[in-house]
Amino acid sequence: MKIEEIKNFSKKLKSQFYFNYDLKKLNWFNIGGKTKVYFKVESLADLILFLKKFGKKQKIFVLGAGSNTLISDKIFDGVVIKLGKNFSNITILPNNIIVAGSSCTDKKLSDYALENEVGGFEFLSCIPGTIGGGLRMNAGCFDKEFKDILISIQAIDRIGRVITIPAKKVLFEYRSNDLADDLIFLSASFKGLKKNKNEIKKEIHKLKNKKNQSQPNRIKTGGSTFKNPINQTNKKVWELIKESVPLDTKFGGAGISNKHYNFFINEKNASFNDMNKLIEFVIDNVEKKTGVKLEKEIKILE
Ligand SMILES: Cc1cc2nc3c(=O)[nH]c(=O)nc-3n(C[C@H](O)[C@H](O)[C@H](O)COP(=O)(O)OP(=O)(O)OC[C@H]3O[C@@H](n4cnc5c(N)ncnc54)[C@H](O)[C@@H]3O)c2cc1C
Repeated sequence: MKIEEIKNFSKKLKSQFYFNYDLKKLNWFNIGGKTKVYFKVESLADLILFLKKFGKKQKIFVLGAGSNTLISDKIFDGVVIKLGKNFSNITILPNNIIVAGSSCTDKKLSDYALENEVGGFEFLSCIPGTIGGGLRMNAGCFDKEFKDILISIQAIDRIGRVITIPAKKVLFEYRSNDLADDLIFLSASFKGLKKNKNEIKKEIHKLKNKKNQSQPNRIKTGGSTFKNPINQTNKKVWELIKESVPLDTKFGGAGISNKHYNFFINEKNASFNDMNKLIEFVIDNVEKKTGVKLEKEIKILE
């Protein structure tokens, strides 16, 4: 990668560029090495300029809250883009439509909907990511997913063209969709329904309790490591793991949560290799024991 070219270019923009930037603190696993370039975008104009010049030449990875991403310890030979606070605005429109920027957290959007008495966004209070990450993953919980409230997405492609994609043009599936891998999501419009504040509060409280009972929190994890293999078996991943793998399996500092077997934890300074070995060990053993081939839900940056 031609670092000098990016260094010179960066002087023309207001957004910040950092070189050899440590990604460890920018993800929930607290694992990972550096990226050659870290671009903290503060305006759409800067992002367009950057993509026009480098969008087709450089490897690019967009990072949200890093709650679903495992990062390699090697130096990433590309640009990690993080949308800054200017991409986190939220606006309400008539008919219970809410527009949220991609770097806005799911929780902030859920709180905003509560304040404005718009229902349908309660499940977002349980997901620790951003809107951008949620769109990419079609994140969801308790039978609700992003697709259920989504109207449209505003995105930018690798040559700096801003496009609007109606939700009905996207094929959403469980934790995935057919949106092009190289799109960067800028914002999205969602539709809820009028709902009494107390009822929304009660629903959020109920969901959070349910979540706390079944999943660990305040730990270094990427959430569910694998997707539930809904096309192969009725069993949940945690059940398959329980019947196939000794639950006290450790690779270095990486282990399996004893509260939710599909959550893997950085218990003690785990390296990327520790976590990756644990993931591959579980995939192999589940397949040997049950015939089910697990698919990763977490994204890997390497
Ligand atoms: C404790 C815990 C609990 C969790 N519970 C749930 C749950 O209940 N349900 C659930 O679905 N998930 C859950 N997750 C996983 C995770 O929170 C979700 O997948 C979330 O949507 C990821 O958002 P993020 O911003 O952290 O994405 P990141 O991890 O930063 O990125 C994930 C993917 O999205 C892409 N991406 C991020 N921003 C953009 C953008 N602006 N444009 C284009 N691509 C982008 C990244 O490139 C990457 O491929 C949990 C995770 C943890 C740690």
